Amino acid sequence: MLGPVSHRRIRRSIGPYLDDELGPAARAEIARHLAMCWGCNSLSESFRLVKAALRARAERQPTNMGALRLKNLAQSLALHGD
Ligand SMILES: [Zn+2]
Repeated sequence: MLGPVSHRRIRRSIGPYLDDELGPAARAEIARHLAMCWGCNSLSESFRLVKAALRARAERQPTNMGALRLKNLAQSLALHGD
């Protein structure tokens, strides 16, 4: 099993993973972890929903403090989760 350090490392990579900014090896590692880790998986799902909400808002309104707060919340969840 993976220790807490691995979970933190994975969670930091979830943003870039969803943005498709990782290389093939890193992407495969994250995908493998998400497939077997409920905690990181649900976090990545939350991230995905936040990103979708941000995109939807950005289309209507370029700068939005509510969206920024949502993004900060998602980031703090990723970094301090567990
Ligand atoms: Zn995990």
